[in-house]
Amino acid sequence: MNERSGKLPVHGRLHHVATVVHDLDAAVRFHREVLGLPLEQIADVPSQEVRIAFLTAGESKIEIVAPTTETSGVARYLASRGEGFHHICLEVADIGAELARLAAAGVQLINDAAVPGVEGPVAFLHPKSCSGVLVELIEAPGGPAWSRLGLVETQRGE
Ligand code: ZN
Repeated sequence: MNERSGKLPVHGRLHHVATVVHDLDAAVRFHREVLGLPLEQIADVPSQEVRIAFLTAGESKIEIVAPTTETSGVARYLASRGEGFHHICLEVADIGAELARLAAAGVQLINDAAVPGVEGPVAFLHPKSCSGVLVELIEAPGGPAWSRLGLVETQRGE
């Protein structure tokens, strides 16, 4: 424990690791029944042509993504690379400030401003700038992008 524990977000906390699969229901069943992880939610994301599930894994989560069309970016990724690891997501206090800092440092951004995600404001960094790993940033609840994007924090399990 230190003075940063409690309500203050810790910069860089691993929010989730995401995988892509063909069959979301089968993957959720495996994670719940075999790995023993609680299901937090399943959501349709029509704008991305995917269905996603979030499962709790201690302080972090596992996101499972499955395409709902054959034309989405995730469907093309799945067709070329198969099932498996897709991205990591790190939590930051102020996503706008963090994107500005990273852009100034020469990091290639996929989103130069936060967009609404299922769990809050998010933005992606290009794998070319991140050792080949697709990196997502998510702003901690209560950060400035939440109100700017009109997002409302939904309390779960508290
Ligand atoms: Zn994600």
